[in-house]
Amino acid sequence: MNVLLCAACGRGLTEPVRLLDAPPRHPGWDGLPGPDGRRRPPASVPRGTYVVDPLPHGAPYVPFEGPLDEYDGVVPGGGWRSDERGPLVSAGPRGTYVLHPLGVVGVEPHADGSRLIGCCGPDGTQGVSHVCGCGAEVAIVAADCTSGYETRLVAGAVRVVAAQGAQGAPAEPTPPAEPTPPAEPTPPAAPDVPATPTAHPVRATGTAPAARSPEAGR
Ligand SMILES: [Zn+2]
Ligand SMILES: [Zn+2]
Repeated sequence: MNVLLCAACGRGLTEPVRLLDAPPRHPGWDGLPGPDGRRRPPASVPRGTYVVDPLPHGAPYVPFEGPLDEYDGVVPGGGWRSDERGPLVSAGPRGTYVLHPLGVVGVEPHADGSRLIGCCGPDGTQGVSHVCGCGAEVAIVAADCTSGYETRLVAGAVRVVAAQGAQGAPAEPTPPAEPTPPAEPTPPAAPDVPATPTAHPVRATGTAPAARSPEAGR
């Protein structure tokens, strides 16, 4: 398990999270409001996990250079976008960490409201939209009916460290900084235990009456 910290001030920006090898299959969305009344899809990743997106994400956008009939969205397979220059592709940050929005803590909306554009929430396409308490631009929040539901932390703005005190899943491969504690002594295989269990002989099997007949009373 890991925690992602603000690279500028060291503040923790996530709960302990486990890195996934690949984005999980999204359950899809029927377009209806969720249990909280908000009209947005299920989160991109389960809470407690995160995944790295190698593709660029969001603004800025630059003109697509190839043949027009080969345009395949702002990222391959992504949404289409164009302006007076023609179709656009994303030149936004690569390698963003995609998290469940509720697993990210301590970020605040950017003072530049144009970063928060969306319908009923920020759609996450206008660049870094949220800042750490120290002011560093760290997060891209998407929570709109037209977008995914996820919070991305920008690779260069955060640091990944092993979560302290977390148990269970091993941390990401990191150089072994600390000496490994000695393994607990394990009891020997106890070869002298007799093969047939005799220590706790079964008590005389209780004569549990299968059913009480009227005559059995006394
Ligand atoms: Zn900070
Ligand atoms: Zn909306």
